Amino acid sequence: CGIIGCVGRGDETLDTLVHGLSKLEYRGYDSAGVALSSDHVEICKNSGKIDDLREALSDRTLSGSVGIGHTRWSTHGPPTDANAHPHQDCHGDVAVVHNGIIENYQSLRDELVAAGHTFTSDTDTEVVPHLIEDALEAGSDPEDAVREAISRLEGSYAVAAVVAGCDAVFAARNDSPLVLGLAEDATFLASDVPAFRDFTDQVVYLADGEFARLDADGWTVTDSDGSVVEKDVDTVEWDP
Ligand code: GLU
Repeated sequence: CGIIGCVGRGDETLDTLVHGLSKLEYRGYDSAGVALSSDHVEICKNSGKIDDLREALSDRTLSGSVGIGHTRWSTHGPPTDANAHPHQDCHGDVAVVHNGIIENYQSLRDELVAAGHTFTSDTDTEVVPHLIEDALEAGSDPEDAVREAISRLEGSYAVAAVVAGCDAVFAARNDSPLVLGLAEDATFLASDVPAFRDFTDQVVYLADGEFARLDADGWTVTDSDGSVVEKDVDTVEWDP
């Protein structure tokens, strides 16, 4: 239902993600979670409210200076802790959040299970981290691995992903909103502007089929072939 991602917030990364999720609460949701990435990926997620997530985080130390967060409105599988996003691959090196519905998830899941993947949720979303894992194991770099996974998906999606050892957030959309927020030292990604409006009013709206990479060098938007797309930067006039 709601997505937030950020790069460049250093020690404030986790707080920035949770703050962003709280700004998306108005959309309604049944679960919430975050993932932080460094040389490894750490996640915290549960069914219930953002306050439940804060509570769960209060006795955890999650480190990493890039991250993604999600509020879930269940479509595939009940609102349980296991079905909350982010979802991970078998090794826990990938974390993915997703809004929308992956129409061909059952055939992808059957294929992945036949190839030896173990699933831990009922969601359509979980095929994505496993597809990324397969592409990484086949030798793709993190960006290409995420691209290859996205290219297998049919349906509506806004997807954001992190991969251990790669200080970047990757994202793509089809039929589900995603917008970048550009601040001086940080770059944000969200399903809606209020998630990062406290940090910037400079935004770039992604179009269907576009792919975004956020990292320490800033941001790039490419099309499905990998060609750079020149995007307009808009200024949002309204207050959150
Ligand atoms: N289809 C996904 C799920 O059921 C994502 C739902 C959403 O948009 O929050 O987990």
